[in-house]
Amino acid sequence: MGPRRRHRWWWRASAGLGVLLVAVVLGVVAEFFGGLRSDPAFLACLTDACYTRIGGGGERGIAVLNRTVMLSPRGIDPVIAAHELTHVELHARLGTASVPQWFDEGLAVLVSDDPRYLLPEGPGDRCRVAPAGPLPESLDAWLRAAGSDPQVYAQAGCAVSRLLAAHDVHALVALLAAGEALPG
Ligand SMILES: [Zn+2]
Repeated sequence: MGPRRRHRWWWRASAGLGVLLVAVVLGVVAEFFGGLRSDPAFLACLTDACYTRIGGGGERGIAVLNRTVMLSPRGIDPVIAAHELTHVELHARLGTASVPQWFDEGLAVLVSDDPRYLLPEGPGDRCRVAPAGPLPESLDAWLRAAGSDPQVYAQAGCAVSRLLAAHDVHALVALLAAGEALPG
């Protein structure tokens, strides 16, 4: 097999896995929300150079303008892809309403079932790390907090899992879409 053919084989296998990955995460997020209202494009890069070229930074994946999910080579992973798709789907359901950043991130942690930040499903709650105080509401505050301690994702996942144990997700999204605050 010459280098050219090997390259084509590799590309086809990677593209096939990418299609499978997208199908899996669309299923995961649709199951959580009871369907999808968003229809984002997925852009995945197999190299860092590619990810830089399409505008990516140091993150593993990102939801851009709530229309595109971009995945770096380290983000071609069902957890990361489901996390970013959750952001897109939540914002499609919220319209122009804003949402506390901790809720946005905690929901993405929960829907993607992120084992870095949540305990496996079981008899108790999912919390690895309970919030020590109020969680960051604004994007700026969130980025500052996450920059100094990534476990803020675990705290947000904990808070959202507790909230959803007591409230229906559609009722919460409706509250937020109406510009109201989340129940304390
Ligand atoms: Zn996120």
